[in-house]
Amino acid sequence: MAKQLLGKEVTAALNEKIKAQVAELESRGVKPTLGIIRVGERPDDVSYERGATKRCETLGVAYEKFLLPADVTQEELMATLDKANKDDNIHGILIFRPLPKHLDEAAVIKALKPEKDVDGITDGSMVGVFAGTKQGFPPCTPQACMEILDHYGIDCTGKKAVVVGRSLVVGKPAAMMLLKKNATVTVCHTRTVDMPSVVKEAEIVIVAAGRAGVVDGSYLCAGQTVIDVGINVNEEGKLCGDVKFDEAEPVVDAITPVPGGVGSVTTSVLVGHVVEAAARTLQ
Ligand code: NAD
Repeated sequence: MAKQLLGKEVTAALNEKIKAQVAELESRGVKPTLGIIRVGERPDDVSYERGATKRCETLGVAYEKFLLPADVTQEELMATLDKANKDDNIHGILIFRPLPKHLDEAAVIKALKPEKDVDGITDGSMVGVFAGTKQGFPPCTPQACMEILDHYGIDCTGKKAVVVGRSLVVGKPAAMMLLKKNATVTVCHTRTVDMPSVVKEAEIVIVAAGRAGVVDGSYLCAGQTVIDVGINVNEEGKLCGDVKFDEAEPVVDAITPVPGGVGSVTTSVLVGHVVEAAARTLQ
């Protein structure tokens, strides 16, 4: 049976570090604050927002919500973002996406100050991830994957790693982060030929395809660490990952469950970024 890599254990350790940083900042007169811009009432957004604000409260980070109607104009949205960008008391900004279709999302992302981009969506943040420089912030989900590997002491140096999925928000940055950890990285996607053999070669597997159970037992073997990023709802209405957990668990060395794996670490990473953004204002 595989060792389960539990999000709550990683989160507990991260939270201790974050709380200590918050206390240090408060002693220097800075209250880390997250600005949340939400357009409309999409249930996914509202639920993520609830998780993020609860985590902020536990960790002593303040937040300010900017709630806009689903039919907000581009001008009103840009004015709201401009206000949050210019407010020195707001250190990080989270903008829920995708935005409604009538809005120009690219223009909004372009206008967001990279130093407040705690969700890692601006070009500046991407440059940081790809060039290894300290600007903006990496996207929270792939960083949560790295935090899990780090927490459990899984060394990537010299190991073969496969990432399934090449989205800009998870797959590509995850591949870059594994590269930084000295893994030898392969990225699989919908056009990959014979994916089971490619994945079976890897010692570390990160799956972010957004397809329930796409990775089954035929992809897996002993000795692997599997990080399942997927969040899907199955036919019975239950949350499940992109990996067939029942087929993976008896075979691989270690695996993250869904729920209870990557997702729960992501919000702590986000709040950690807000605290880091606040700390950078003092440098
Ligand atoms: P996406 O749809 O933008 O990208 C999916 C990628 O997987 C694409 O590159 C696509 O080519 C590839 N892909 C799709 N089907 C495939 C298949 N059968 N074989 C190989 N590759 C395939 O999704 P995303 O935003 O990257 O998210 C991926 C998953 O992670 C989703 O389930 C999403 O809900 C979840 N997610 C979780 C968190 C978290 O905090 N845990 C955060 C963001 C996203």
